[in-house]
Amino acid sequence: MASRFLKLAGWAVTIGAVGAIALAERRHPLRSRKRDVVPRTVRNLAMGATCQAMITISEAPATRAIARRNASRRRGLQHWLGSGVIGKAAAFLAMDYGFYLWHIATHKVPFLWRFHRVHHVDPDMDMSTALRFHFVDMLVSLPWRLVQVRVSGIGPQMLKNWQLFFLLSVLFHHSNTRLPKGWDKALSRIITTPRMHGIHHSRDLSEMDSNWSSGIAVWDHLHGTYRDDVAQEEIVIGVDDPMAERDVAIGPALLAPARSPATRGEG
Ligand SMILES: [Zn+2]
Repeated sequence: MASRFLKLAGWAVTIGAVGAIALAERRHPLRSRKRDVVPRTVRNLAMGATCQAMITISEAPATRAIARRNASRRRGLQHWLGSGVIGKAAAFLAMDYGFYLWHIATHKVPFLWRFHRVHHVDPDMDMSTALRFHFVDMLVSLPWRLVQVRVSGIGPQMLKNWQLFFLLSVLFHHSNTRLPKGWDKALSRIITTPRMHGIHHSRDLSEMDSNWSSGIAVWDHLHGTYRDDVAQEEIVIGVDDPMAERDVAIGPALLAPARSPATRGEG
């Protein structure tokens, strides 16, 4: 009964947040759009659906099974630090830090960049960009995801909590939402904000190589990779390689990892 209530609450929060972000994007856009919103959104939703299908048959059952075993065998970081709030918070932070490290790897390891590039090729950035990934990327990232779950020792319920937090975070920070600048700056000390992530989606490599956090922003502050010195009006969203325009469309995007230049900014 309690788990059914939590599930319904999770759906209610997600639907409410998506509606609120969509409204904020319309009323207070952060960047001007370069492309028509409808075809972009349809394309990004379609790519997101293929990713979700892949997650449903691979990552979801595998991570659930490891999380259940973490709880039954009392293993991993969460249990070393006790089963109380401290242990749970540590597991949550470990999952999030794992994503920070993985995100850097997806840019710096040429094989991984071939897949992550498909996400960055989008010439505009809004909430739908959060769903634009190559479905094979879900398999490529799976081994690291399993390591995250195993090392953190996260249990089944905390895993669900973290997944909900992460989903809402990626929808929010990819969104084209202009928050009052003081709010954005204050929030960016704690979580990844649209302005922060806009700098990461710049075609300029010196700007792209910053703001790697996907959930909690503290990792960028701790590692000195946080930037807020670029005005959104000066940013050109996308990737700087000769095949970028071709790979915006869904068909070429799906073939791109097999044929696009592996080196970032090549050309
Ligand atoms: Zn990235």
